[in-house]
Amino acid sequence: MLAGDQHEQFMRAAIDQAHQAELLGEVPIGAVVVKDGQIIGAGHNMREKYQQAVYHAEILAIMEACDALHSWRLEDCDLYVTLEPCIMCSGAIINSRLANVYYAAPDPKAGAVDSLYTLLNDDRLNHQVVVHAGLLENECSQMLKNFFRAIRRRRKNSKRKRFRGQD
Ligand SMILES: [Zn+2]
Repeated sequence: MLAGDQHEQFMRAAIDQAHQAELLGEVPIGAVVVKDGQIIGAGHNMREKYQQAVYHAEILAIMEACDALHSWRLEDCDLYVTLEPCIMCSGAIINSRLANVYYAAPDPKAGAVDSLYTLLNDDRLNHQVVVHAGLLENECSQMLKNFFRAIRRRRKNSKRKRFRGQD
């Protein structure tokens, strides 16, 4: 078992990934995969940059971890992610046999771990994942709120400018 501050350290690594997404103008979501106390995969949202619907942070972190282990089985690995995984990422988490998932902020609109579905604990499936919700939740929620607030402000300003240009 890892000590509590180690969990926090890995979530901070996921937050660093989220900040990298933000620098690219992406929604700030980041993830890391950890095995034996080491980060073996990291990823952040890159949907806009590559115009790829599946390029979520979790998918990219899982792909990197599979590459590192030369295996699709991440049985002894844990995922840390700043936002509750969606349906697609929950599917990838189950299919890669991850052991634990730590997520920070809930996603009431798309979360498939607790909010809309409980896919990681559906005993009809052949693999269940231990879920730990709420690690550094406030920090990660705030990061997303700030991002969307800045976008709204930018949109409002550009509308105002356009208006002025027309008269
Ligand atoms: Zn996702």
